[in-house]
Amino acid sequence: MTELRELYQQIILDHNKNPRNFGKIDAANRVREGYNPLCGDHLHVYLHVAGDTIADISFEGSGCAISKASASLMTAALKGKPVPEAVAMFEKFQEMVTAEVDAPVDDQSLGKMAVFAGVREFPMRVKCATLAWHTMKAAVDEDQAPVSTE
Ligand code: ZN
Repeated sequence: MTELRELYQQIILDHNKNPRNFGKIDAANRVREGYNPLCGDHLHVYLHVAGDTIADISFEGSGCAISKASASLMTAALKGKPVPEAVAMFEKFQEMVTAEVDAPVDDQSLGKMAVFAGVREFPMRVKCATLAWHTMKAAVDEDQAPVSTE
C-alpha cells in the first residue's frame, strides 16, 4: 500500500508541475469558470464540443496541487470522448471521492484518476479534486450559473 501511495503521489506531483492541456483553446465553444473558496482554487475549463464529442479540452488557472492535477488528468482523459461518456465519468469520479474510505475503487474505468481516491480521507480536499469536473459538467450542460463548490 505504501508503494501504491507513493505512485499516487508521483502522479499528482507530476501533473501539478507539468499540467497537461494547460492554456486557452482558441476554438473553444464552451468556457466555464470554477471556484473553490475553501481552498482558493480558481480555474477555467475550455471545451471545443463538435457534435456529441469533446474534440478538445483544456484548463487554465491556479490552485493547490490536487485541483491542478485533477484538472490535468481530467482533460487528458476526456479529450476525444463523447459527451455522455464524459458525464458518466464525472459521476463515477464524484462517487469515488465521496465514498467510504475503504470502499473499492473502480480503477478499471477511472484509470489514473483512481489516484484521487486518497482524498476520501480528507473531506476538505474532495472539493479540490472535483472542481474541474463540476466546471466541465456545467460547461457541457451549458448551465449559465457560476460554478462554486459552496
Ligand atoms: Zn485546493
